Amino acid sequence: MDHFPIFLRVEGRRIVLSGGGDAALAKLRLLLKTTAHITVFARGAAPEIQAWAEEGKLRLVERGMAPGDALCAALFYAADEDDAEDARTSAIARADGALVNVVDNLEDSQFITPAIVDRDPVTVAIGTEGAAPVLARAIKADLEERLPAALGPLARIGKTFRKAADALPFGRARRDFWRDYYFGAGPKTIRNGEVAVQEALDTLLADHLDRKARPGHVHFVGAGPGDPDLLTMKARRALDEADVVIHDRLISQPILELARREAIMIDAGKEGFGPSMSQTEINALIVHHARSGAQVVRLKSGDATVFGRLDEEIDAVSAERISWDIVPGITSASAAVAAIGQSLTKRERNSSVRFLTGHDMKGFADHDWAALARPGEVAAIYMGKKSARFIQGRLMMHGADRHTPVTVVENASRPEERILATTLDALPAALAAAEMTGPALTFYGLAPRDAAQARPDIDFPVPHAKEAF
Ligand code: SAH
Repeated sequence: MDHFPIFLRVEGRRIVLSGGGDAALAKLRLLLKTTAHITVFARGAAPEIQAWAEEGKLRLVERGMAPGDALCAALFYAADEDDAEDARTSAIARADGALVNVVDNLEDSQFITPAIVDRDPVTVAIGTEGAAPVLARAIKADLEERLPAALGPLARIGKTFRKAADALPFGRARRDFWRDYYFGAGPKTIRNGEVAVQEALDTLLADHLDRKARPGHVHFVGAGPGDPDLLTMKARRALDEADVVIHDRLISQPILELARREAIMIDAGKEGFGPSMSQTEINALIVHHARSGAQVVRLKSGDATVFGRLDEEIDAVSAERISWDIVPGITSASAAVAAIGQSLTKRERNSSVRFLTGHDMKGFADHDWAALARPGEVAAIYMGKKSARFIQGRLMMHGADRHTPVTVVENASRPEERILATTLDALPAALAAAEMTGPALTFYGLAPRDAAQARPDIDFPVPHAKEAF
């Protein structure tokens, strides 16, 4: 690191700039955001600079720099876009004791100006020591997009509340309060104006003061397949009372919106900038929040106990002697079978139903294919899109009828729900043609009820004669 980043206090101090063209303008736009006194030396300065001078935002001296002009200045910018003039003015400024920057000349500069993301009082400075200005700009653009414009006002309001928040014990309790504000209550209420944020801060503080006495708890909640109407009353209550909600990627937006307004929402399945969170990280996150006294809702799609890696999380929580409970949810097989108007079990057809996963941690999952290949068997296959060809191959190898109905339900219970009815032999091709991008559940041995009636040519294993149940 040849350049050490610091934030220099310039309030009330002098910053001097020599130059009146484009380079000067670009720097002045930045400098005018500060509370420094700015002096510009330029003959024939650009109209914007003259206007700023008239508005009293800076002092314009319409001549070239002379010795003594940069006395007491904290910083000096040589921005004449002329090597000889820049060398002359920067020598003067150096002699006057100012730190010197020659615009677009790293070699002769004592400091460089970073790319800045401005959410005053929150400022992010990005530097590449001149190595890759393109990279600095790309990082800036990325951050500009990711940091809400409200960050500045939130920090300003937060600052006024620091004294009140001192009522919380120093350390984790206080940190948790501020984290809840900046990542939960604050961003959620800022749209409604400053007064709403003040109120949210009061509520949050009362909540946190209360929390000291209350032990943390973890609800492992099944969120169902996506339709908020398919949440249980218990799940809704848990969301309503949650301090922290840690959710998977598959949880739909309308369900997330039911969480308490002040709750911190954590997406544990995020795939954006880096890889999704590891199971160990998720376990640690749940434990961390519960230990600080929070009511944690660990929200999982469908039913938390079905292909949800629930046991690992329960083990982590139990090991810390944190109390927990499971709130059952509607698993996607239930929602998908409802979508096709069938039942999962049926007298004379199948007295058992298997819930399978298409792949596990080791790759494609193996199952008792011989048993599944028998007529009348029904299986609900989770995570089965990628493994469709493998499953088809295994079943046919074990003697399954190639006409066995297979139905894929994508986005069960959501507005984008789609049903693909096919047969075992046509499954991979049909899936490829359907180009499904949402979560999908595959039924082996079940056709949609309409198709079962409309396709008498296919011998579905549905004994119509004995339907009384
Ligand atoms: N615990 C969840 C399953 C988690 S595994 C449950 O009980 O449903 C993730 C798989 O669930 C997905 O790959 C998909 O096969 C299935 N799934 C989840 N939501 C779904 C939905 N709305 N429609 C169809 N399948 C879904």
